[in-house]
Amino acid sequence: MHFDTQSIHIGRGIDPVTGALVSPIHLSTTFERGAEGDYPHGYIYGRSGNPNRNALEVALATLEQGVDAAVFGSGSAATFTLLQALKTGDHVVAPQNVYFGVQQMLNHILEPWGLQYTLVDTTDLSALAAALQPNTRLVLIETPSNPQLAITDIQAVADLAHQAGAYLACDNTIPSPVLQRPLELGADFVVHATTKYLAGHSDVIGGAVVTKEMNGLFEQLRLIQSIGGAVPSPFDCWLTLRGLQTLPLRVRAQAQTAQAIAHWLQQHPAVEQVLYPGLPEHLGYAIAQRQMQGYGGLLSILVKGEQADAVAVAARVQLFTRATSFGGSHSTLEHRASIEAPGTRTPPNLLRLSIGLEHVDDLMADLEQALAV
Ligand SMILES: *Cc1c(COP(=O)(O)O)cnc(C)c1O
Repeated sequence: MHFDTQSIHIGRGIDPVTGALVSPIHLSTTFERGAEGDYPHGYIYGRSGNPNRNALEVALATLEQGVDAAVFGSGSAATFTLLQALKTGDHVVAPQNVYFGVQQMLNHILEPWGLQYTLVDTTDLSALAAALQPNTRLVLIETPSNPQLAITDIQAVADLAHQAGAYLACDNTIPSPVLQRPLELGADFVVHATTKYLAGHSDVIGGAVVTKEMNGLFEQLRLIQSIGGAVPSPFDCWLTLRGLQTLPLRVRAQAQTAQAIAHWLQQHPAVEQVLYPGLPEHLGYAIAQRQMQGYGGLLSILVKGEQADAVAVAARVQLFTRATSFGGSHSTLEHRASIEAPGTRTPPNLLRLSIGLEHVDDLMADLEQALAV
């Protein structure tokens, strides 16, 4: 079955009781046991499993070409649980510009518990190889990266990680499985903030880990999901599954508009540089061409001048909304350095644009007036 068809059908079926085309939201926290004390419907209690959550997990595992998925109450909880599934004394390699929250959890929570980690530029394969240690159990990458859209070679990193006896987890939040399938390129796990493109409408926070094969690490993650309980509500799962139906259409449209805006902004006199992996000038363009089926709806620009000039451009937008996060139908724009931690590597004149589903001409007109001095 094609990806677009799977997006509509997997995890969904006609309700056997009512014939409803759209599945009900099962709010029940508990499920009836059989006379023998068994669980005839396969569900026990809402923390350990729920029909809406199960449907979403089946859909995400299928779309990412994995064998199983576990969903969480946020993207951060998904990554956190994957890291928690490791053991004291294990070592993790992660990108030096890893999602800010992940850096915080490594630094403030997991390292004090005995997890070791090294942050490295994962686009530099020799630096990455040098960071691998005998106790490295997991390499985590994000490609394209946030907010500089740097590209890491998934296949090459998978080979290095596997030679060192480590698993590779790839955060696939920015491209979504529409544009990139890390498990097909050698990754062992895919991580998502479903908050972004998968749910797609800026109205539900969630996360997921998909595994390529059943293994001890995923089993431990499943145990932590059930016992730790960082699970999404039935309504969260229902909303996210609903979002998946339009995922391919949304992401391809957003990528097409972003590509047009990236080309146009390159010529703009108020723009110093456009960071977008779909531009031939981009450092990761050749790898992106190989491992992606399109370059996504996220791009960053360096505004000519200083931080104040970038902030002034952000202050003038009218159709774009100044807001953090990305992946919704509504275009947003953000001055990143001022939301990240002190000491961030993000250039002070960088604005990140999340292209929504508005008409490209209206978005360009808004940027034109915002960039005009
Ligand atoms: C948003 C995001 C996260 C965190 O997801 P939340 O749902 O906000 O917790 C993690 N990784 C990436 C790449 C993200 O964009």
